[in-house]
Amino acid sequence: MNDVLLNLSKNSTTRSLIKTLGLPVPLPQELRRSTEPIQERPIEGRSIGVYLPNESSVGRYVAETITEAGGNPSVAEETQEDIFESTSKKAEKIQFETDTNFDALVFDATALKTPDDLDRLYEFFHPLIGQLDKCGRIVIIGRPSDQANPKYAAAQEALEGFMRSASKEIGGNGSTINLLQVEEGAEENVAGPIRFFLSDRSAYINSQSIQVTSDAGTIDQNEWTKPLEGQVALVTGAARGIGAAATKMMAQEGATVVCLDLPADAGPVSQLSRQIDGEILLADVTDEKTPDHVANTIDELDGVDIVLNNAGITRDKTLKYMDSNYWDQALSVNLEAVVRITERILDDELFNENGRLLCMSSIAGVSGNKGQTNYASSKAGLIGFVRSHSKQLNDQGITANALAPGFIETRLTEEMPLAVREVARRMNNLSQGGTPEDVAQAITFLATPGAQGVTGQILRVCGGSMVGR
Ligand code: NAD
Repeated sequence: MNDVLLNLSKNSTTRSLIKTLGLPVPLPQELRRSTEPIQERPIEGRSIGVYLPNESSVGRYVAETITEAGGNPSVAEETQEDIFESTSKKAEKIQFETDTNFDALVFDATALKTPDDLDRLYEFFHPLIGQLDKCGRIVIIGRPSDQANPKYAAAQEALEGFMRSASKEIGGNGSTINLLQVEEGAEENVAGPIRFFLSDRSAYINSQSIQVTSDAGTIDQNEWTKPLEGQVALVTGAARGIGAAATKMMAQEGATVVCLDLPADAGPVSQLSRQIDGEILLADVTDEKTPDHVANTIDELDGVDIVLNNAGITRDKTLKYMDSNYWDQALSVNLEAVVRITERILDDELFNENGRLLCMSSIAGVSGNKGQTNYASSKAGLIGFVRSHSKQLNDQGITANALAPGFIETRLTEEMPLAVREVARRMNNLSQGGTPEDVAQAITFLATPGAQGVTGQILRVCGGSMVGR
């Protein structure tokens, strides 16, 4: 990654020199990331400031998750006295006036039912937000804001505005804030998302709201390590960039990965598949015979658990100057091929129970981009595709989600003109680009049993991008 500002910021002498001289150079904070396999206790020893009010039905699950994941909780006054009693940890009371630092803050907002209740948000965060350490985490737990009760809906939607603004205030420190909207009855499914969003694995996911449901059922989970053991994954566009990072990470978590890429990429694909002891499938996703090859390959492996439709291309031109072949190529690789291959897998009943359908959309599919009418159409189309599938696949326990990366340092973004690239890289609350591994972390999380409650979602991996919602 050739990010000059980030490289400067890694050098403590340069950092303090720029500070001393008062130069107007905003140095991004280097993010704390994890390259280890998923741990049983991902937040071991981290200090977590917690607000879990008495009226909440989700509190018990949050308390259990924090302690089982290794966190050291401190509780705010209103937190249920005995909530941590059944867990292995005893929580201290938060001393609001001291200068104790926190690695993370967790606020259960499910009981905020009217706009008046929002004061509790201020009362908790106002004294503590300045005490959040570098690369800290804030997780707010709310309810979906499409509530029948308008006052409740107002209070819950207010959390979105709070999160988006707070994200801009803490991003310079490398810290993130995300909102989990837990549906009533889906409380049991909150453990996996809380573990992920409090850990170093979610370093580049910022300012996002994710719904947690029980639509695709719940999975009783005792083991958090090697979550993909015994599973089969198909990754298209596996040769490089995000696809290669996701392939390696899912293999590290125990999956056997079928690596699909163009025949011209036989070299890097075979090298990767040897490295992870995977399978190779050399094919163009747009070829009409490819769905047959895919079906045959995964049939021999007794079906597939994870399908990651990742292969993608850009063919940028403003609409007025765009040749029809540019339009056709982007649509056929990014959307039509995904639909054909996925439908074939489903028609042949090759998707295993509790499977994971994942499609690589883009922030351009959410917010649009000049010169990308073709690309953005294809990427928005994928969002419609997974949303529709998420409803139809619930009874098989299969979840369907899209990922929408922002600026990720890969070959695709390296091709951008220098000035455009530099602006695009800084247009997020963390003021830096993400890495293919950041996206791979999100993919791997969505592939795990712990993400059973996350379906029909668009998970943005964008550092809290200033464009789009
Ligand atoms: P990349 O160019 O590094 O890798 C894409 C891979 O897809 C390549 O290995 C390529 O050979 C393969 N591929 C392309 N056409 C194919 C075809 N017809 N058949 C089979 N394989 C084919 O790109 P990347 O940055 O890793 O992007 C991966 C995905 O993420 C793409 O869908 C892209 O649109 C999306 N995305 C990337 C970014 C970013 O900033 N890099 C941002 C948003 C979305």
